[in-house]
Amino acid sequence: MKIEDILKDKGLRITKQRKLILETISKEENPISAEEIYEIIKDKIKLDLSTIYRNLNTLEEAEILLKTTNVDSISYYQLNNDEHKHFITCTSCKKRFVIENCPVHLLEENIEKETGFLINGHNFEFTGICPDCQKKNKKKVY
Ligand SMILES: [Zn+2]
Ligand SMILES: [Zn+2]
Repeated sequence: MKIEDILKDKGLRITKQRKLILETISKEENPISAEEIYEIIKDKIKLDLSTIYRNLNTLEEAEILLKTTNVDSISYYQLNNDEHKHFITCTSCKKRFVIENCPVHLLEENIEKETGFLINGHNFEFTGICPDCQKKNKKKVY
């Protein structure tokens, strides 16, 4: 779907800011933070960080974007579609990895059947110990 159509579909006005923000997010392979969006578009348009946050909020409320707030308390945004991604964060070194395929679509179907809800989003993050940290921990001698 074209970005104009996504906005129209949700009854949002098509503004240059919204278009540019959505274009930037859709070009990114992985979810992206407001600061990262700012760094990418600051040469193309005069937009301060708080305006970007305001636009991101509007787009999230319209369910065009998915927001994930990680253990580092930074929020990352991505398009709300079937190919969205989740994070797994190492609790030891705080490194963030991306899980390519959303693992819960099947689970959603079950929850819909059970509750009668029409689910339109979910938000979660996995945490654990990354392979590097596992190796490091093994080397420690007590
Ligand atoms: Zn780690
Ligand atoms: Zn998901």
